[in-house]
Amino acid sequence: MRFDDDPKIPEGDYIPGIYNYCNRWCERCMYTDRCMTFEMEKEIKMEIEKEKKREKSMEENKDFWDQVNKTIEEAAELIDEEIPLVKDDFSSFDDWDDEDAHEAMREYKEKHKKARNQPLSKVARKYEKTVHQWFKDRKETLKQHYDPETKDFNISYTGIADEAVLKQLTESVEVILWYEFQIEIKTQRAFSSLFEEKEDPGLWKDFPKDSDGSARVASMGIDSSIGAWNYLNNKLTSEKETIKPIIRMLLWMKMEIEKEFPGAKDFVWPPKLD
Ligand code: SF4
Repeated sequence: MRFDDDPKIPEGDYIPGIYNYCNRWCERCMYTDRCMTFEMEKEIKMEIEKEKKREKSMEENKDFWDQVNKTIEEAAELIDEEIPLVKDDFSSFDDWDDEDAHEAMREYKEKHKKARNQPLSKVARKYEKTVHQWFKDRKETLKQHYDPETKDFNISYTGIADEAVLKQLTESVEVILWYEFQIEIKTQRAFSSLFEEKEDPGLWKDFPKDSDGSARVASMGIDSSIGAWNYLNNKLTSEKETIKPIIRMLLWMKMEIEKEFPGAKDFVWPPKLD
């Protein structure tokens, strides 16, 4: 049975696996009504809201919960006195110490380390740090305003009053911040998967390769970030010299990704329906 057929998941005309290689920016996604993850997360959020209400009523019903706690204490005493804990009850967990598990974990860590040490991953990390520092150094001129209630995010910049420009600046900064970490995460994952695929060529035999899918997400993040930085470069004239090296870094990553993962550009997303 396919995961998408699980009876517990919401019903709908979903595209199987669409969420595997997207950028996870659901607020900006054109496929929310075809995405099972989106629908499930919506339901989870509704459950959380319900849970919050329930917690509130829990506070209001303190007597009830005091009574419950008393029952729990009594149960604990009963367990201590009448149902002693037998050491071997948890022997099944000993499997975690199994040699195979250790070996699998060791291999996983090695692959992860190797992926992390690829020049592309290193530059992606450098990009992350550079972006972080760039915004930090400009926090007095390029101000970020976020309202957690309304989730409104906008930018103000000393010397710019044009609303249309500020709106586009906001959108560009949003794009940069959205992909700041995702580029590195997806690049590293692309390498980890590439090593696994090389080790076990049958792994993704009948499926598009995970390495290509992950590289594609990284690559799209790079493209969008180049566009966003370019807008900043055009509007924040005094910052041109600081922005150019960042764009250069992104262009280098774009070129390297295309070289390392030539199949990424042909990776189809969203997946086609049968
Ligand atoms: S496909 Fe779209 S809606 Fe679904 S998880 Fe990805 S970004 Fe969100």
